[in-house]
Amino acid sequence: MEKGTINVQTENIFPIIKRYLYSDQEIFLRELVSNAVDATQKLKTLSLRGEVKGELGELLIEVAVDKAAKTLTISDRGIGMTKEEVEKYITQIAFSSAQEFLDKYKDSEQAIIGHFGLGFFSAFMVADKVEIQTNSWREDAQAVRWICDGSTEYEIGEGDRATRGTDIILHVGEEAAEYLEDSKIEELLTKYCRFLPVEIKFGTKTQTIPAPEPKEGEEAEEPQTFEVDNIINDPKPAWTKKPNELEQEDYIAFYRQLYPYAPEPLFWIHLNVDYPFNLTGILYFPKTKNQNFEVRKDRIHLYCNQVFVTDQLEQIVPDFLMMLHGVIDSPDIPLNVSRSYLQSDPEVKKINKYISKKVADKLGELFKNDRQNYEEKWEHINILVKYGMITDDKFFTRTQKICLVEDVDGKLYTVEEFTEAVKEQQTNKNGETVFLYATGDEDQHAFIQSAKDRGYKVLKFDTILDPHFINHMEPKLEKVTFKRVDADTIDNLIEKEDKIESALTDEQQTTVKEMFNGVITSESAIVEIKAMSPTDRPVLITRPEFMRRMKDMGNIGGGSPYGQMPDMYHVLINGNHPTVNSLLNEETAQEAKDQLAKQLYDLALLQQNMLKGADLTNFINRSIELMK
Ligand code: ADP
Repeated sequence: MEKGTINVQTENIFPIIKRYLYSDQEIFLRELVSNAVDATQKLKTLSLRGEVKGELGELLIEVAVDKAAKTLTISDRGIGMTKEEVEKYITQIAFSSAQEFLDKYKDSEQAIIGHFGLGFFSAFMVADKVEIQTNSWREDAQAVRWICDGSTEYEIGEGDRATRGTDIILHVGEEAAEYLEDSKIEELLTKYCRFLPVEIKFGTKTQTIPAPEPKEGEEAEEPQTFEVDNIINDPKPAWTKKPNELEQEDYIAFYRQLYPYAPEPLFWIHLNVDYPFNLTGILYFPKTKNQNFEVRKDRIHLYCNQVFVTDQLEQIVPDFLMMLHGVIDSPDIPLNVSRSYLQSDPEVKKINKYISKKVADKLGELFKNDRQNYEEKWEHINILVKYGMITDDKFFTRTQKICLVEDVDGKLYTVEEFTEAVKEQQTNKNGETVFLYATGDEDQHAFIQSAKDRGYKVLKFDTILDPHFINHMEPKLEKVTFKRVDADTIDNLIEKEDKIESALTDEQQTTVKEMFNGVITSESAIVEIKAMSPTDRPVLITRPEFMRRMKDMGNIGGGSPYGQMPDMYHVLINGNHPTVNSLLNEETAQEAKDQLAKQLYDLALLQQNMLKGADLTNFINRSIELMK
């Protein structure tokens, strides 16, 4: 054996490597198996070109653990390396590129996506000693052995490998002993190498073929068992195929492979571009209803030439696309840069634009071809569509016409259709069409009822995204305003020319107002006398649209000061209601009048779900009292 010295500036870059990438130590296996795949693919290419003569034979990659020898070996039957190649590619290039990688990123606080670029060198994250036994495909090649113990010294000499290919033998260190466990290696192979394009064997497994049904009077035979290679990967996953090679079932089966526990997807997009960037993949629209949209465990997987990179795609794809499932495979996403850099990377931007357009196109196609089916799926996709519309202007323009709104009776309209449907009835005296909405069929029930009594339609906006959606949508629609049904009296929400006359004189109004002010203790209440229809409620509690929206947004957004605003509300006294009128009856004792005013006020609170604790108890007691 000859000795050599590795030419790196840092005396001991191995400890740095070990420390630096400690949390992502496990990527070493992906790097080494990827190298084995590359070597195998290169061999196939040489063979196609006629440079490698004869049969290539079995091209399996094998990963094996030898617990007694404390080694983990990755073997391929690829092109192998000559002595000169080992000197050049391993000793010089691999080491200097690792050095370069470290110089660039060792002070980086940002996680470096995928840690691509460290390559062969990452073996030293888990091995005290790395040995290469290799034999080049070239006819006159000699087997070579290279060994390096983690200092800058290495040895190189004649090797033992008799056949073409390479063994990378890791002498696994004490602290990395977990990588000598079969279960750990199988887990990592499944995570990172599951869709690599060359078969990867990890040990064997037992296969059982059940015996045929015994004939009458004959004894049943034993089932046959035999050992077969345990191949851990699917070398040709669905996304690498052409869409016309795949049936519906194939897409669903692939989804199952990725997310065994998720409900069946709604539909999917097969991505396949090679210009101006390379991208393949399948994106699935999952069923999201009743799923918390903040914490989801099933995520998009990012691959690079079938090598798993990550499923942490935050800052790479826009949030609304993160709600999709599936696989994106692109060699054009730079993987050895920090995440914050990626956001502004022009390739990543282009890819995102492309995906966003594909998603919008797919939705448009579904809407156009099968409206009913689209409506059935709306409950699952509405969050994604709305989120996309809020955060991506292009997406907004593309989906504006196919974004649906639902009324409290469950009927779906496009925004345009809804405008048409309510324009006549719900346009106020200023020519604005008022979109009334409620946050559910149960919430604001009485308000919904009085709106319906007027022949109005009320929309349902019940997701946490809807306040944002409304704020975003409103200015984009011409002469449309959104008002929650309980923001004011129904006649004030949609103000028409014919104003209702007040049955009370100014003086009487003051008397009634004082009476209510006397019984209402809350500081958040603002009492007002209104002339409403005698059939409306005697007392109504409303929360001004503007203030409520600010609060809603503040609550969702987290830190906004609006979230902390006191909860002001209006107490509207219907001066035209007979019960309110009866408060002016001079023959009734003041005490009885106060009790009645209090009762009316409590009923209004109750209707808004605002009567709580002792106030509620007092109300019940008072009601029982009144019934005597
Ligand atoms: P990269 O794979 O990015 O080029 P690596 O550090 O992983 O960087 O590997 C350096 C070089 O060593 C490779 O480009 C290849 O030429 C050679 N090499 C590594 N592993 C193998 C292998 N299993 N068979 C043949 N050559 C290999």
